[in-house]
Amino acid sequence: MRTADVVVIGGGIHGCSTALHLALRGLKPILVEKDYAGRHASGVNAGGVRQLARDLAEIPLSISSMDLWEKIEDLVGDDCGFTNNGTVLVAENDEELASFRARVDDLRMRGYTHEELIGRDELKRLVPAVSDHCPGGVVSRRDGAADPFRTTQAFRKRAIERGAEVIEGVTVTGLARVGDVWRVETSAGPIEAPKVVNAAGAWADRIAAMLGEPVPLTVVAPMLMVTSRLPAFIDPVVILRGRKLSFKQLDNGTVVIGGGHLAVPYRDRNETVIDWTKLAISARTVWELFPAMRIATIVRAWAGIEAYMPDGIPVVGPSATSEGVYHQFGFSTHGFQLGPGTGAMMAELVATGATNVPIDGLGIERFGTLKPG
Ligand SMILES: Cc1cc2nc3c(=O)[nH]c(=O)nc-3n(C[C@H](O)[C@H](O)[C@H](O)COP(=O)(O)OP(=O)(O)OC[C@H]3O[C@@H](n4cnc5c(N)ncnc54)[C@H](O)[C@@H]3O)c2cc1C
Repeated sequence: MRTADVVVIGGGIHGCSTALHLALRGLKPILVEKDYAGRHASGVNAGGVRQLARDLAEIPLSISSMDLWEKIEDLVGDDCGFTNNGTVLVAENDEELASFRARVDDLRMRGYTHEELIGRDELKRLVPAVSDHCPGGVVSRRDGAADPFRTTQAFRKRAIERGAEVIEGVTVTGLARVGDVWRVETSAGPIEAPKVVNAAGAWADRIAAMLGEPVPLTVVAPMLMVTSRLPAFIDPVVILRGRKLSFKQLDNGTVVIGGGHLAVPYRDRNETVIDWTKLAISARTVWELFPAMRIATIVRAWAGIEAYMPDGIPVVGPSATSEGVYHQFGFSTHGFQLGPGTGAMMAELVATGATNVPIDGLGIERFGTLKPG
């Protein structure tokens, strides 16, 4: 019988980050991943590291994560390709700009200063290629982007170096309480541990179901496409609110275009089917917003399998039914940036029973799940 202090289910950025931070606290975690670390959303996402435009409930986690992103090399021994040229939310008309102003004012009243309203001149300075019809926007200057697969692998590697065990190609198939511990059934035999973290991404509802804790998770598959190389013309990541778009140029000149149009996911087969008609909508948006992009050629498109919650924010915190089990899933297409900080917070919660980073509003009980009986 294998034993551990904590079994972490899932080897995405969240599971790997939590395993590392548990090991840094002197605990012995075993991480179980059914495929390989970074195989799903964490390895194939757009790499956006953004505090901008986050739900209020996520902001403390996002800020604590950004503090770790800024010293990521110290944490994992790799700079993860992280660059911080900011994220700019572009307003396409005066009405949008007015709503952005209201949001920034509201954040200031709550003590958050990371979002900054900008007018036409500053927008043009930050994003010279943007179309002249845009009257301004919001910038979060500490934001940036990183290489997602490299980042997830760096967390995995450092977790192992610090004493975590990572078992890949093995699926968690059951959870049962046996005395004081959890017996985690896997396709390679059972593991016993007093604590379990459910970081199973788009499959996390199945782990929750094993605990009698149903959760309304939807499986989605955001799409991305990438262009051929273009001369450097943009530094920050650009996002839109009204139309679905996120947009950034990599160091090699290629431009990654995404923003929320969805492929069809088949999570039991680890497959997605690209919807080219929806990608054409993203291409049209880019055409209108960045005239310089009209010569670009799309060379590749892909999608990743991701968990989406009805309110668009993750499930983070203790199980409502099962003592010793913690949830960390449902990142609703924006969980990459949250990985470093949420792992640190989760390790603190698991190790001490409390956390200094507020996670109010993120608990599973918001879906009306039963309390421990
Ligand atoms: C195309 C795309 C673009 C995105 N762009 C961004 C972005 O720019 N910025 C941003 O912040 N976020 C972005 N996201 C969202 C981000 O990628 C995810 O929110 C984040 O990676 C989720 O991490 P995770 O560790 O929770 O899940 P995952 O990476 O899915 O990891 C969960 C792991 O659990 C494993 N697992 C599941 N069930 C079991 C089981 N029973 N036993 C063992 N293992 C199991 C899975 O195989 C999987 O590897 C994007 C997502 C996609 C798909």
